Amino acid sequence: MYAKRLDNLPPYLFAQIDKLKSEKRAQGIDIIDLGVGDPDLPTPSHIVDSLCEAARDPSTHHYPDYTGMLEYREAVATWYKRRFNVSLDAKTEVLALIGSKEGIAHVPEAFVNPGDVVLATDPGYPVYKTSTLFAEGKLHELPLTEENNFLPDLDAIPKDVLKKAKLLFFGYPNNPTAATAPMSFFEEVVEFAKENNIVVVHDNAYSEIAFDGYKAPSFLQVDGAKEVGMEMHSLSKTYNMTGWRLGMAVGGEEVIAGLGRIKTNIDSGAFNAIQRAGITALTSSQQCVADSCKIYQERRDVLVSGLKSLGFDVPTPKATFYVWMRVNDSMKFAEKMLNEAGIVVTPGVGFGKNGDGYVRFAITRDVSRIKEAIDRMGRLNFE
Ligand SMILES: *Cc1c(COP(=O)(O)O)cnc(C)c1O
Repeated sequence: MYAKRLDNLPPYLFAQIDKLKSEKRAQGIDIIDLGVGDPDLPTPSHIVDSLCEAARDPSTHHYPDYTGMLEYREAVATWYKRRFNVSLDAKTEVLALIGSKEGIAHVPEAFVNPGDVVLATDPGYPVYKTSTLFAEGKLHELPLTEENNFLPDLDAIPKDVLKKAKLLFFGYPNNPTAATAPMSFFEEVVEFAKENNIVVVHDNAYSEIAFDGYKAPSFLQVDGAKEVGMEMHSLSKTYNMTGWRLGMAVGGEEVIAGLGRIKTNIDSGAFNAIQRAGITALTSSQQCVADSCKIYQERRDVLVSGLKSLGFDVPTPKATFYVWMRVNDSMKFAEKMLNEAGIVVTPGVGFGKNGDGYVRFAITRDVSRIKEAIDRMGRLNFE
């Protein structure tokens, strides 16, 4: 019944984990879920109020503009200027997205012909791979290893692969490894893209979730970045708005127009009332973001010091709400955690084969639950 592209999809590990989790819950087991990359914190109330008000205004009830409300795109441009000192033309260099996942899922449709190579980091956000598959592109994985600080080695890509490469997906602060990238790496990517005629998609969903004074850069801060690509960003992680579905693609006019042409033929944009709330989020005080980061930072410290006290060797991330820890066998470790301690962590192999040997903890639960998780782990024998 189904098209081949559905058969070709890799098994969705996260659906399996969800199933196991529900089975345990049905047995009455108290599950501590450190698996989900979804903030447990609520959307700040001034943003919710803004949506309520906008939803009562009938002028928001119609089809939105395909590219997003001009006021929303202007708010994005203003935010980029203030936050990254990146200048964007709101009319041609900003596109509203129904969450950045939507943009990532559609971007290969605009740039990839069947058989073209798409470069994507592995481990990586699963949509890089599935969107490549849907566009009938050929995936070439760029391994992220601890030795390389979880940055891809662009020099290691074989010449014949490079010749056919059309698109590159990558993102820092990184999900799942929690690694950050220096500006020098972004500069290297711009050079690489120019030399090899590759469209770059930088996924910056976590730029605002940062600790200890670290400020994540934008890929567009590099001179010439706009000529080679775009950055996907989102209100989801920054303002605890995952359920609202609002994001943005920003970058060179030509690449943004390409993605826009696909979208025009598929969706009709994000609800105007949500875009208005998005304007409120981007243009009002950013204190709520600092407050969230403070909470995540405390949780990170409790988790990392707890894991260290149990003898695990684990790095302290500067950004994202994840902790990426080396283990022997990621599936076995995750199964043991669930079966013997009622703790959900995500096996790294779910993000690609180079993720095997790691698990990802999401610090999207409060400190008392993280402490409880450490206590439970202390009673396990990890040999
Ligand atoms: C959460 C996430 C996204 C997508 O978030 P949206 O809610 O669709 O904006 C994109 N990339 C990465 C790496 C993510 O973790």
